Amino acid sequence: MHQVLSDKNLQEYYQTGILPNCVRPNGCTGENCQERDRFHRHSRYSRKCIYRQGCGWMPVMWVQRFRCATCGKVFSLIIPILYKWQRAEHELQQSVAMEQPYRREEVAEAFSERTLSRWKQTWLAWSAFYQQAILAWLLTSYAFLSVNVTAAEARTPLHYLQALLAQLPGKAPAAVEVVSVCRFGGRQLRRIPHILSLSFL
Ligand SMILES: [Zn+2]
Repeated sequence: MHQVLSDKNLQEYYQTGILPNCVRPNGCTGENCQERDRFHRHSRYSRKCIYRQGCGWMPVMWVQRFRCATCGKVFSLIIPILYKWQRAEHELQQSVAMEQPYRREEVAEAFSERTLSRWKQTWLAWSAFYQQAILAWLLTSYAFLSVNVTAAEARTPLHYLQALLAQLPGKAPAAVEVVSVCRFGGRQLRRIPHILSLSFL
């Protein structure tokens, strides 16, 4: 099933996180089913931390499911930006990447070992790549910041960044969130924590 969303619909989807009502499937995914028109909106489920180049990420985006009136098949209408690997929220990806405690059994059911190890490699590589830019931003913005952290706190670029962010007043953003903003931009997205709307690139 090929589906193209107009700019207006895509914009609305991005802003609300919910697929606009006027967007309908143009075919059934059921085997041998020829239905092209009659589909009922079914339930929907969320995906978290959807990245968008130049616009940061969306905290939550809903995937709409439809039920075919002819064969009864229920299927999701997934637009191309919703990659499979984006099902996990930042918090979980950071815990995995930093080898901190997380709900192992539950996570093992939803994600393969390969996926978990890819998260780890990805976040470590990205945080290493952006480390100098982030460090320069932090030191310029926060005079009180101490770069004197323990060896354990600095054992990976991601750990190091988290140790620095932990010194910020209030609720500091997670290291992967800061790295994400470097990677994908984010100044246009209002829902990004205020502290991350600073320009540090
Ligand atoms: Zn059908």
